[in-house]
Amino acid sequence: DSFLSMNLSRPLLKAITTLGFTKPTPIQAATIPVALLGKDIVGNAVTGSGKTAAFMIPMLERLLYREKGKRSAATRCVVLVPTRELGVQCYEVGTKLATHTDIQLALLVGGLSLKSQEATLRTRPDIVIATPGRLIDHIRNSPSFNLDAVDVLVLDEADRMLSDGFADELAEIIRSTPISRQTMLFSATMTDSVDELVKMTLNKPVRLFV
Ligand code: AMP
Repeated sequence: DSFLSMNLSRPLLKAITTLGFTKPTPIQAATIPVALLGKDIVGNAVTGSGKTAAFMIPMLERLLYREKGKRSAATRCVVLVPTRELGVQCYEVGTKLATHTDIQLALLVGGLSLKSQEATLRTRPDIVIATPGRLIDHIRNSPSFNLDAVDVLVLDEADRMLSDGFADELAEIIRSTPISRQTMLFSATMTDSVDELVKMTLNKPVRLFV
């Protein structure tokens, strides 16, 4: 397995090399080819497995398909994370992978000012990384921000988001995205409530247990 055999575009391959990723981790080798086909995915990856790049790489690749030089008019990818800390990590990996592209990322988590995040949202970031509560705040309070154009949704550490009491927020966010979206869900454990969420949210998911 190698990143070269995955048919990724040059700006992405260049960033992967700069990051020092010489070969895909098992979760990346399993996830990236399936995600590039647009399929829904359930993965049991834990932190440290390289799962952030496993969903970020195909997400960025999908955004690169759009016409060169054209900035998209709305947010097309949303990554939901349970904690501010995970959001920061995800934002950092995504930003590094997007270095050689014009793809814009935004981080919406508690502890950052709502006002400055609103200003960021007005620039129409392609990818929004957020905790569920903070994302809901912005959907409700920023008239020009919505999830109508989202075509990739990632639920990272889904078990933790559910056990942290974000179930209602998750449901509201999922309802606000188009049914035609691609959804990727990662969870360290497969509890009944995660299973329920998978059934409600994913369409014929490919299950990747590595
Ligand atoms: P994660 O599981 O996404 O939190 O990633 C854990 C760590 O592994 C991060 O520091 C990544 O930068 C690193 N990493 C991810 N993919 C690779 C790879 N293919 N080769 C080497 N390191 C990697």
